[in-house]
Amino acid sequence: MKTPLETPPKIPPGYLNIMGYVDESEVNGPGSRAVVWVQGCLRECPGCFNPASWSFAENQLISIEELANKILSKPKNQGVTFSGGEPFWQAESLAKLAKILKVKGLSVMSFTGFTLEELKSAKAPPHAQDLLAELDLLIDGPYLEQLAINDPNSLVSSKNQRVHIFNPAFNDQLNWASDQMEIHILKDGSRIITGFRGQMGLDY
Ligand code: SF4
Repeated sequence: MKTPLETPPKIPPGYLNIMGYVDESEVNGPGSRAVVWVQGCLRECPGCFNPASWSFAENQLISIEELANKILSKPKNQGVTFSGGEPFWQAESLAKLAKILKVKGLSVMSFTGFTLEELKSAKAPPHAQDLLAELDLLIDGPYLEQLAINDPNSLVSSKNQRVHIFNPAFNDQLNWASDQMEIHILKDGSRIITGFRGQMGLDY
């Protein structure tokens, strides 16, 4: 497994490079949530559920404003979850997106392959602190196949991963299950399968 702490992606300012997006997911955090899967991760964890997210090549470029409007256009979205790929390589834009959504009353959660300690260190990706400051919940740590959890009631996919609750309002809302699965059929007929074994699979 690589543990890269350099090589931030080159994305135009004000934009995100994403791999996928769904509204109203109930298997990626508390309540009904929009989910944004960012494009790009350098860890190459064996057993990663989403290897197509590893490349930093441009996939779907979307402005922060457009994505915020999409999320806010669905009143059932009570929050947003950032997944990947590695959200913290796009921390600056995700922090700005989170700020807009929090003003509108949405909660913000993120997965990351970094540990919280790494994100607080001098070697963290740029603007990691800005994104951390916006989060209600963080699931940290890479997926480690040898520590995999296949428990339908587990919030995480491998034993090393931790749930950090930064907003105590979520203390009693840790009720999503990582082994559940949702299939979202999009308007263009493509499908997004999410929640399966705690991560996600995209099926375009
Ligand atoms: S499991 Fe997560 S951190 Fe590991 S390679 Fe896949 S997307 Fe990256």
